Amino acid sequence: MCFVVSLFVRLIDVIRALLGQGPRIRCVVLNYHTVKPAERQRFADQMDLLVRVAKPIRADVKQLPDKQGNYVAVTFDDGLEGVLDHALPELEKRAIPATIFVVTETMGEYANWNDMGAADAVGQKALSLQQLQRLPTHLITIGSHSMTHPFLPSISKDEIRQEVLGSRTKLEQLLKREVRLFSCPYGVFNSTVVNTCREAGYERVFTGMATMAFSEPNEFVTGRVRTTLSDWPLELRLKLAGAYRWLPTAIAWKRRMASRFRRAFSDKAAVEQPTNAPPRSLIQSSSGSAGHERSPR
Ligand SMILES: [Zn+2]
Repeated sequence: MCFVVSLFVRLIDVIRALLGQGPRIRCVVLNYHTVKPAERQRFADQMDLLVRVAKPIRADVKQLPDKQGNYVAVTFDDGLEGVLDHALPELEKRAIPATIFVVTETMGEYANWNDMGAADAVGQKALSLQQLQRLPTHLITIGSHSMTHPFLPSISKDEIRQEVLGSRTKLEQLLKREVRLFSCPYGVFNSTVVNTCREAGYERVFTGMATMAFSEPNEFVTGRVRTTLSDWPLELRLKLAGAYRWLPTAIAWKRRMASRFRRAFSDKAAVEQPTNAPPRSLIQSSSGSAGHERSPR
């Protein structure tokens, strides 16, 4: 379904370009996690395609070059060893810059989270401090992916600050290089997360929203499109062309509709409560769960 809609979006883009109405510059940020040994050739093929259809840039550029074209930045979340062993050699061959987002409290240890089906990091080893220190600085940028990979919108403001600022401070002290980029665990964020990242001194926050990237000169929140080694070549082409940019709008619309439906269903259930049912106050006091009740409108 996503593929078909994106294909349609791409078709519209092509028609607009033929009519001279398309944007002059496009940029997307790809969000990988790791490359397993059996996936190295597929990653190499994807990187070959990437350099054919887009110009690779670093994820920490202030703004895009003022030249017409398609640009792409490559990022890896979770800081896993597979990136060093199987992705880096292919990136070096093609001089493709990339950013690795590290979870500071898991360096050299095994990851214990699953990035919501996008990539299962459970049981995979994270890069150690020594491995991170050996990464080529001209090609690899290191960013923070928090201290413990929590679901940031669900924790307190103080805890968010600890995850966001604590990880940056630790990485800078250990690696002796500036850390200016943050990637939200699970790609999720809210205004508190964004504001805390700003206060912590980051220059950019990367999310899991498949929006076009670097479209504003001072863009602080940048979306990325999740990419896996099982993507077909055409699927990757669509991602590189920004054809998945409709997804955030569709997801927001779906959430709004689900919320309205839940509210309407809850109101209807309250109105249709049987007349011989005990008074609501009794139900609430006996169950002790008054917070679940909703007043009919
Ligand atoms: Zn992650």
